[in-house]
Amino acid sequence: MVVPKNHPRYESLLLREKVKDCLKEGIISEVGIAAHGRGEAFDYFLGERTTEQAETAIKASARLLCRAENPVISVNGNIACLVPEEIVKISKILPLKIEINLFYRTVERETKIKKRLEKFGGKNILGVGENANECIPGLDSLRGKVSREGIFTSDVIIVPLEDGDRALALKNMGKKIIAIDLNPLSRTSLCADITIVDNVVRAMPRLIEEIKKLKNKDIEEEFIFDNAENIKKSIEIMKNNLIRLQEKIDER
Ligand code: ATP
Repeated sequence: MVVPKNHPRYESLLLREKVKDCLKEGIISEVGIAAHGRGEAFDYFLGERTTEQAETAIKASARLLCRAENPVISVNGNIACLVPEEIVKISKILPLKIEINLFYRTVERETKIKKRLEKFGGKNILGVGENANECIPGLDSLRGKVSREGIFTSDVIIVPLEDGDRALALKNMGKKIIAIDLNPLSRTSLCADITIVDNVVRAMPRLIEEIKKLKNKDIEEEFIFDNAENIKKSIEIMKNNLIRLQEKIDER
């Protein structure tokens, strides 16, 4: 379908087209479509823009990633569909390991995602088939499978669109978690060390810019970032946007 450029939901419809194509290609699962829809609803409340709070969280994430020893990005079908180029870019700048980590795991889908990332220049992609040779304590063997050289031994993990159980189990392993999640109320958002309440398609390019600025600079160890406070402010923005929308109805 050709999306007319003057459509008020142009960007959002373009993403839907992308998601639809990735479903056909077997990159995204059917359940991934539902997750995308939930994200769209929260993005609507957020005003479909990167807020000041998201900017603060992005800057804090860039600092944490630049100081990390073994950072990893956990890749599922949705983000492999939406931001494959950015995943690869960030992996090369830092460096950061790329690990495929699916909720509904099949070797077939893992391989398709790996190929998609390789098409964008991704190298040494972990988590496919036998490479996922360890298990996150507290999760069943299928959902808990991770790569020893990747997530299992990582110190900092970026988890865009992660399931709450898994995020919590990773946190319990002592990892620092950076979540990118449009839902500030999700269990993943609430348990992360840093939650970027933003759409991955906006947050990832911004994160790359911040990392580029910080790279090869001395970063002082201490930085103050209060995740709970930041999340509360994001919710406040959504609340105020809803009030504004409500007032518009009154004006009609
Ligand atoms: P949790 O298990 O953490 O409590 P959940 O059940 O909502 O939360 P999932 O459905 O496993 O989590 O993951 C999808 C999450 O990703 C949702 O919170 C959704 O808002 C978010 N999401 C979907 N699309 C995007 C996107 N493009 N950018 C950022 N977040 C997104």
